[in-house]
Amino acid sequence: MSFFNSIGRSMQRAPRPPRRSTTPTSATFPSTENLPPATPTSPSAPKPLYLCSPFVEAALVKGNFKTIVMLPKYADVMEWVACNIFDFYQNINLFYGVLAECCTQQTCPTMSAGPNLNYTWINQDRKSVQLPAPTYIDYVMTWVQNLLDDENVFPTKSGRDFSPNFPSTVKHVYRQLLRVFAHLYHAHYQQILHLRSEGHFNSLFAHFLAFGKEYELLEVKDIKGQPGAPVGVGSLWEKWKEMGILES
Ligand SMILES: [Zn+2]
Repeated sequence: MSFFNSIGRSMQRAPRPPRRSTTPTSATFPSTENLPPATPTSPSAPKPLYLCSPFVEAALVKGNFKTIVMLPKYADVMEWVACNIFDFYQNINLFYGVLAECCTQQTCPTMSAGPNLNYTWINQDRKSVQLPAPTYIDYVMTWVQNLLDDENVFPTKSGRDFSPNFPSTVKHVYRQLLRVFAHLYHAHYQQILHLRSEGHFNSLFAHFLAFGKEYELLEVKDIKGQPGAPVGVGSLWEKWKEMGILES
């Protein structure tokens, strides 16, 4: 959405919040700076199940997601983005709550999202560190929950405006939630299938991608890889574009 994005571009970057200790119950502010580029998937790697039929087509709804991401008439774009981020967070949190018992320091010692793709966390000393996936995801979810609870970031009372930093903040949120999706698809798709939730999960992710694309919240370099070689869920996104589920 050009209106929303034009605000985002015109605003300065969000100031860094006060430093917090890096413990499993708190989150440092995820940085988008100095991240290593996504590494392309090895050509010899087997095709992940989520790209295979019939799973790639599994969905709760048929058709294109464009209509459900459009800004409703008379709705404020900030309000619309805030509501949707809240819903995406709640839904991912529910999925992760169910899958968490399979995502441990032993099964997932890194925040992996593909054969050669591990996301790193920028710690309070601005160092890029590898974290076990459950720790990484806990940091993300705690950080987002704290933002959602913060009236200065997600105002809920009438008469309170969104901060000028809101567009920049939600882009950070989107980037981290995308990584959580990427890890769950890569490392826990078997469990999603076991729960027969692939239709729910695909629909949630397709909605998330469509919304992110519409309001320019997605930073695709995490899943883009080299030209012509998308990594992890980047391949799923490409596939859904081919299938007409998502806009190209
Ligand atoms: Zn995991």
